[in-house]
Amino acid sequence: MKFKVGTLILAFVLLALFGCGEKPAGSQSSSRLLMGTLMTITLWSQEGETSRSAAAMQSAFGEMERIEKVMSSHLNTSAVGRINQAPRGQWHPLEEEVYHVLAESLRIAKLSQGAFEAGLWPLTNLWGFSREPPATAPPEMAKIESWRKGYPLGTAIQIRGETGGRQILLANEYVGLDLGAIAKGYAVDRALDHLAVLGFTNAIVNAGGNLGVNGSKGGTPWRIGIQHPRESQGVVAEVSLQKRMGLVTSGDYERFFMHEGKRYHHILDPQSGMPTANGVVSVTIQHPKAMTADALSTAAFVLGLDKGLELIRQEPGASALFILEDGRQVASGGFSYRWLGGGQ
Ligand code: AMP
Ligand code: MG
Repeated sequence: MKFKVGTLILAFVLLALFGCGEKPAGSQSSSRLLMGTLMTITLWSQEGETSRSAAAMQSAFGEMERIEKVMSSHLNTSAVGRINQAPRGQWHPLEEEVYHVLAESLRIAKLSQGAFEAGLWPLTNLWGFSREPPATAPPEMAKIESWRKGYPLGTAIQIRGETGGRQILLANEYVGLDLGAIAKGYAVDRALDHLAVLGFTNAIVNAGGNLGVNGSKGGTPWRIGIQHPRESQGVVAEVSLQKRMGLVTSGDYERFFMHEGKRYHHILDPQSGMPTANGVVSVTIQHPKAMTADALSTAAFVLGLDKGLELIRQEPGASALFILEDGRQVASGGFSYRWLGGGQ
């Protein structure tokens, strides 16, 4: 009888602790398709926090969904979609949040001497990598050529004004906003901020290889795998992080098609209008801001190894890992990682 009472008390205590879905301290993950990619949030939660952490993850997804509705070029109703439908050569009102992301885009465009351009929507549409269904063959080269002649590199996008009165001007019809190389990083930053405000400062937000981490996994560093560029399930390197950091990869394997034995991928060289072909297959950038890491990963990919490393050296707090077609990997100073081997 005594044993039975003891068991009952123990069962009661366990129920009180975990009965409402509560689990011991540990990590929890949740995924959603957003911004054209699989988004996964992982949280480390303390004992008794797990039901609150599920709600926090949903709320952070809500924040990223809101950003998608503002920044997606695919949605005619988004702030970016509306700008793309407005007449060229005229000033139009610009939302503060889009201004913020565009200001960073223009800074990286300048720093990379036009390797990063936020105005490539007409070109990315010609290539159709994010079309549904995606393109399977290159567009007519005459169309690329007329785009190349028409796109005013360096003066395609202008922004001006103070808070509350921001404005944008797109130079001509060869220019349209495409924030695909920076908006996911921005969304990751915002989701991490959002989780921190809700009390969750130990988290990973992964937007299809555009990733941000905060804190640690219960005191031990988060371990992040860098995707193998030629094996979809493979990991080539591992990075350990235990502070707020963005870790973003641009790769030629993310969106591509093979045509007559040649790979055509989504990271376009604004100089030529063609997929970048310089021997780089992926670039991973570490930077405290995932937004900046995102823009830099695309820019460094387009610039290639030497100029890409030069770019990274110019940006305080940034470091990079390049993976090359010939299987070599080259890291800038400050990028600490464990190579797991494989290459291609
Ligand atoms: P990411 O995966 O961050 O490197 O971004 C690639 C996406 O950004 C593409 O799918 C395009 O929508 C867009 N993009 C392609 N090339 C560039 C470029 N040179 N500069 C800025 N955005 C680009
Ligand atoms: Mg990018």
